[in-house]
Amino acid sequence: MKYDAIVIGAGMSGLAAGIRLAMFDKKVVILEKHSISGGLNSYYQRRIPSTKELFKFDVGLHALTNFAKKGERGRPFTKLLKQLRIPYEEFNLKEQTTSKVQFSSASFRFSNEVDYFISQIEETFPSERDSFHSFHQMTMEYNETDLSAGYVSARAVLDQYFKEELLKEMLIAPLLIYGSAWEHDMDFSQFVIMYKALYVEGFSRPEGGVRTILNLLESRYKELGGEIRYRTGASSIEVDKKVSGVTTTKGEFIAADKVFSSMGLPETMQAIDGEFSAPVGKLSFCESLFITENKSFLDNIEDTIIFYNDSDKYLYRKPESIYDSSSAVFCLPDNYERKQREGHGTIRVTYMANFDHWVSKEEEVYKKLKNKMSEEAWELSKRLMQSEPTILLKDVFTPRTVKKYTGHIEGTVYGSTQKNKDGRTSVDGLYVMGTDQGFLGIVGSMLSGISMANLHGLMEG
Ligand SMILES: Cc1cc2nc3c(=O)[nH]c(=O)nc-3n(C[C@H](O)[C@H](O)[C@H](O)COP(=O)(O)OP(=O)(O)OC[C@H]3O[C@@H](n4cnc5c(N)ncnc54)[C@H](O)[C@@H]3O)c2cc1C
Repeated sequence: MKYDAIVIGAGMSGLAAGIRLAMFDKKVVILEKHSISGGLNSYYQRRIPSTKELFKFDVGLHALTNFAKKGERGRPFTKLLKQLRIPYEEFNLKEQTTSKVQFSSASFRFSNEVDYFISQIEETFPSERDSFHSFHQMTMEYNETDLSAGYVSARAVLDQYFKEELLKEMLIAPLLIYGSAWEHDMDFSQFVIMYKALYVEGFSRPEGGVRTILNLLESRYKELGGEIRYRTGASSIEVDKKVSGVTTTKGEFIAADKVFSSMGLPETMQAIDGEFSAPVGKLSFCESLFITENKSFLDNIEDTIIFYNDSDKYLYRKPESIYDSSSAVFCLPDNYERKQREGHGTIRVTYMANFDHWVSKEEEVYKKLKNKMSEEAWELSKRLMQSEPTILLKDVFTPRTVKKYTGHIEGTVYGSTQKNKDGRTSVDGLYVMGTDQGFLGIVGSMLSGISMANLHGLMEG
């Protein structure tokens, strides 16, 4: 039996692409090597030792970026719902109150109202007020979705507008850590995508976390007749002048006219000839999670996310040490619904991490290092919250975990520094989508899956 399309990966981009293809009666199968969907944005559970309760963790969801109110026109999230034909209410979004960028000598907040962000920048950097208005206006008019645009350094653009180094560092820091495959800098189109996603549109979280999103996508796909095979990896992509199909890890050859891959560009090319023919990205992360007895610590803190940096210079790169605690993303997921105070609380602290160090350690050393990192993250949490809640359960994941569950070479989270914006590869009929097409994050990857399916699966016949 021959398929119209094979989608590799049941992450956000793969599920969204699958829905679009199935919606227009394409015969499509999604192959997922893991036993559940979600990829970098998945979930797991652990038992709390003292109470024996099962606690559900999200892996990648700190924030659903690109918040839009119901029906708000021109917003990426509204477009996404329209394309997937999922009603807004089904996401059951809980909005943030504020999030904060905190460096050693200044901080500013942003919310889901862009005027609040603008006023915070004006107050914190009064001498840059006019320059900031011109900069903001320029980003709002910029066409960041132009698929033919080449790389432009975001730092070089910031230099053209601003004199204050601290403002430039603080503006770019959250955008780098939420979506740059490049160390120290990012492509200006990507900067604008992230600037709008964070500062202009803002954050929310679906009630029930990532499972809500995945359940919606999976059930939509299945309703449309789409097929999904778990624990079935793409072992090699077969090419006979053009793509002819995929051989699975179970040894089965599946024939298809088109293959859409969300594995990553180097991983996809490696599946053809065993060689990486694209640069492997260096950015990976480790995260400490704490489950607390109750949520009373939220009385002291309203922020949902704090982009923390202990100096005025932000270092965004693969650290030389095993992890870098000089900066962190500190996340309080319960602050999306500050009224809801029943149950246990969750605290998450993410650091940049060095994949090579984490994978080279013996099991005992690995465990000790995870412990050390978790202790350091807890010290930071106490300082930021100015309270010390009782911890019931701790957990940690590292770049080793990312590699194990998603297959991304070197545990890379933001993919290769080579982005194929139109999704095309050197092989006819084989397309990349998701992270290495260039749209990142949860909303970005879904939009990537949709646009690649539309462009190459539907419009091209
Ligand atoms: C710690 C962390 C925090 C994050 N926080 C946020 C956040 O707060 N907000 C946000 O918007 N984004 C966040 N992200 C990023 C977001 O999760 C990703 O950008 C997005 O999920 C990428 O989706 P994707 O479909 O492109 O790729 P992936 O999620 O990587 O999906 C690829 C899928 O392909 C499968 N696969 C790989 N190889 C094969 C193979 N050979 N055969 C079959 N299947 C295969 C993988 O198992 C995976 O399911 C975070 C990520 C991490 C790791």
